Amino acid sequence: MSLVIVGSVALDSVKTPFGEVDEALGGSAMYASMAAKNFCRTRIVGVVGEDFPQQHLDLLASHGIDAQGLARVPGRTFRWTGAYSDLNVAETLDTQLNVFASFKPELPDSYRKVPIVFLGNIDPSLQMRVLGQATGAQTIALDTMNFWISGAREKLLEVIRKVHILFINEDELRQLTGERNLFAAAARVREMGARWIVVKQGEYGAMAVGPDFLFFAPPYPLGKVVDPTGAGDSFAGGCLGAIAEAGGLSPSGLRRGMLYGTVMASFNIENFSLDRLATVDRTAIDARYAELLSILRLDSGSL
Ligand code: AMP
Repeated sequence: MSLVIVGSVALDSVKTPFGEVDEALGGSAMYASMAAKNFCRTRIVGVVGEDFPQQHLDLLASHGIDAQGLARVPGRTFRWTGAYSDLNVAETLDTQLNVFASFKPELPDSYRKVPIVFLGNIDPSLQMRVLGQATGAQTIALDTMNFWISGAREKLLEVIRKVHILFINEDELRQLTGERNLFAAAARVREMGARWIVVKQGEYGAMAVGPDFLFFAPPYPLGKVVDPTGAGDSFAGGCLGAIAEAGGLSPSGLRRGMLYGTVMASFNIENFSLDRLATVDRTAIDARYAELLSILRLDSGSL
C-alpha cells in the first residue's frame, strides 16, 4: 500500500545543548516521509519557496519519495526557529508560514486513490482540503500541535471528526480536551471522532488507546539525544509506513507500527535535521526493531 503525507517542508534553525543548525532541512512532512519511505511507497504534499535549495529536492528523489505533490512557488519557504533546554520540550521562538500562508494544495491524480493519508502537522484548513481530494483514503491519520490547537481550533475539530488515528503529544492532548487525565482525554478525542489516539510521551515512549485496546511502546534506549526535532513526525511516519506495509490498519499492525515508530524516532534524534534518517537503511532499522522485541520479551507473532 502507498501513503500520502501532507505537512510542512521547512528550513529550521534549531539550538539544543549539543549544538545548533541554521536553516537546515526540516518540517513535519519531511521527517514523516523520510521515515515512511523505508516501508512503503511514499508521496509528499507541500510547498516550498524559490529559496529552497535544490539539493533538498534531490534528496527526496534519491530516496524514491514521490514529490509530484510538492509545489515550488514564488516566495520564501516556511521557517521555524526553536530551542530545547529540556530535550523533552520544544520552545518555539519563531514561526514564519511564508508560502504556506496562501498554499492551496492540489493532489496529483496519482495521489487521489492512495489508501492511507497522513495529515502531518500543518494548518488544519490545508489538512481539510487534502482530505477532500483524497477520495480513496481508507485510513486517515492526523498530527497537530499547540500552534494550531489554539490558533485554528474550530477547523482542527472539523478535521478530527474525519480521522481514524490522532497522533498528539501529552501536553497538547490536555490542551485540546481540557482533561488532565490521559484516559479521560483520550475518551474525549474518541467522542470528537478519532477512534485511535497515539499519545507521544517524549523520552517515555508512546501510548496508543483505542476500542478495547491499550499498547505502550517504550523508547528505544538511546544513550544520547542530540536533537529531538522531528521525533514525533518520524514516529508517525514509521508507524504509518509499517501499517501500509502490513496492508492496512489492524490492532496487531498498530502495535507493530508503534514499535517501528519508536525505532525511526530513535534514529532521527541521533543527529540534527534529516542527517541520520538520510543514511539509515532497512537492515539497521530491523536490527533495532528486533532488539526492542527481545528487550520486551515479545516476538512478532505475539503482537
Ligand atoms: P516535531 O519535533 O515532531 O514536533 O516536529 C518538528 C518540525 O515541525 C520542525 O521541522 C518544524 O519545521 C515543524 N513545525 C514547527 N512548527 C510548525 C507549525 N506551526 N506548523 C507546521 N510545522 C511546524
